[in-house]
Amino acid sequence: MAKNASAVCDRHFGQPESNLDSVKPTVPSHPAWAEIDLNRLRSNFQLINRFKPPAVGLISVLKDDAYGHGAIAVASEALAAGASLLALATVGEATALRHAGISAPILLLGQRHSQELEICVRESLTCCVNDLETACQLNKVAVDLGEICDIHIKIDTGMSRYGVRWNETPELVREVSNLPNLRLRGLMTHLAMSDEKDKTFANLQTSRFRSVLQELDVAGIRIPLRHVCNSGGLLDLPEAHFDMVRLGLLPLGVYPSQACRRIEGLMPVMAIKTRIAQIRTLQPGDTVGYGMRYTATQPRRIAVLPIGYGDGFPRVRNQGFVLIHGRRAPLVGGVAMDALTVDVTEIHETCPWDEVTVMGEADNDEISVHDLARIKGSVSYDVLTSWRERLPRIYLKSSRRLNHETSLLGSQG
Ligand SMILES: *Cc1c(COP(=O)(O)O)cnc(C)c1O
Repeated sequence: MAKNASAVCDRHFGQPESNLDSVKPTVPSHPAWAEIDLNRLRSNFQLINRFKPPAVGLISVLKDDAYGHGAIAVASEALAAGASLLALATVGEATALRHAGISAPILLLGQRHSQELEICVRESLTCCVNDLETACQLNKVAVDLGEICDIHIKIDTGMSRYGVRWNETPELVREVSNLPNLRLRGLMTHLAMSDEKDKTFANLQTSRFRSVLQELDVAGIRIPLRHVCNSGGLLDLPEAHFDMVRLGLLPLGVYPSQACRRIEGLMPVMAIKTRIAQIRTLQPGDTVGYGMRYTATQPRRIAVLPIGYGDGFPRVRNQGFVLIHGRRAPLVGGVAMDALTVDVTEIHETCPWDEVTVMGEADNDEISVHDLARIKGSVSYDVLTSWRERLPRIYLKSSRRLNHETSLLGSQG
C-alpha cells in the first residue's frame, strides 16, 4: 500500500474531470454517477429524423424515467425534434411530466384502473383502451367533467399482453364510436419480435393489424393515427411504419439487438463513471471479497471501486471489465452492494481517485450496454433501467456540465 501512496498520486476528488472550467469542483454526494450527454441525444434524434420517412410521426416513449436517462430531459429533446406524442406507462409518470410544465399530448400505455380515469381526463392524458368496459367508464368520467377524451385502441395481434384480440377489434371500434365524449384518434399494436433476424412473427402481427384496418376501411371508418413499430420495427420493418413509430431505446443511442439495421453516427447517451477509492496489493494466496471468489496466484494490484449492485451493476463474479486510463481492467471477486474490485496490475499509472468508466467510451475502447447485458444474462433495456436513483445524473450539454434545471431552461453552454 505504501508504494501506491506516492507523490504522483495526489489527484483531486470531483466529477467529472473534464469540462470543469466553469463549474466549481464540489464533493459529490455519491462516489459514482451517470453522465447523460444531451448533445448526443439531440444528434441521435436528428439522425433518426433523417432515417425515417418524413411523413411518419414520432412518439417518444419515456417510461421508467426514459429508461433511467430522465424523462423530463429526454422529453424536452424529443419535443424539440418534432415528437408529437409522449408515451408513458403509469399515471404517476404522466402527472410528473405535467407538473414539470410539459403540456404536449401524452399517451398512457397499458391498462387503467377505474379509479385512475378521472385524473387521466383532468390531465388530458390519452389512454390506450383495451376493452369496452373501460371505454364506457372513461366516457362517463368525461361526460361528468364535460370534457372530450382522446383514446387509442390497443390491438393484440399476437403478443397476448394488452389489447383487444385483432379479430374482435372492428366490433370494439364500432361500440366506442357510439360513446359521445371519447374521440378515437389511434389504433396500435405492439410487436413481440421486431429486432431479430427472423421476421416471420412480426410479419404475421403486421398482417393481422392490416386486416383490421381493411375491415374498418370497408365499413368507411378511418382512424388517423395507426402505429405498430418500436425501435426494432423502425429499423427493420419499413412496411410497418404506418403513421407513427414509438421509440424508446433508439434515441438513447442503443440498438435493441445486434441483428437490426444500423444508423450511422448514433451514439450512446448514458455513461456510468466512478473513481478508484483505494488500491491494495495482494500477495499470492490472498482472496478477494465475499465468498472468496478470487485467489491471487501472484502479487496483484487491486483497485476498489465504490459502485456495486446497489447502484445497478450486475451482481457477477470474476466477469466483465471497466476502463481505466483507456485500458481494460478485469473484475476480480464478486460484486458487493457498494463496491467492486478490479485488477490494475497491468495499468501501472493507476492512482487512487482516478476516473473509471464502468459503462461508456474512454480513449478508443468502450464498455457497451450490450457488454454489461451479456455478463448479466439480460438485455440492454434491463441494464439501462437498472441504474439506480442513488447514482446522480449529470447532464452534459455543449461540452459543459449543467445541472438538471439549467438544461431544462434550454440555456446554451
Ligand atoms: C416500451 C415500448 C415501446 C418502445 O420500445 P423501444 O424498443 O424501446 O423503442 C413501444 N411501444 C410500447 C407499447 C412499449 O411498451
